[in-house]
Amino acid sequence: MSRTSYRCSCGAEIRYKQDVETRSTTTGRRFICRDCGTPVPGTVGEKISHQNPS
Ligand SMILES: [Zn+2]
Repeated sequence: MSRTSYRCSCGAEIRYKQDVETRSTTTGRRFICRDCGTPVPGTVGEKISHQNPS
């Protein structure tokens, strides 16, 4: 299984589920950068939210 990573505009590398903050909304889940609060694209955030460092 390939790993997804995302480089936030603040410079943070988002690779694992603890790097994103998950927010449940009425329309689904949203993912934001832990460091700066910038939204992470949904498809990317979804994948990253399943990734564990191991
Ligand atoms: Zn950020």
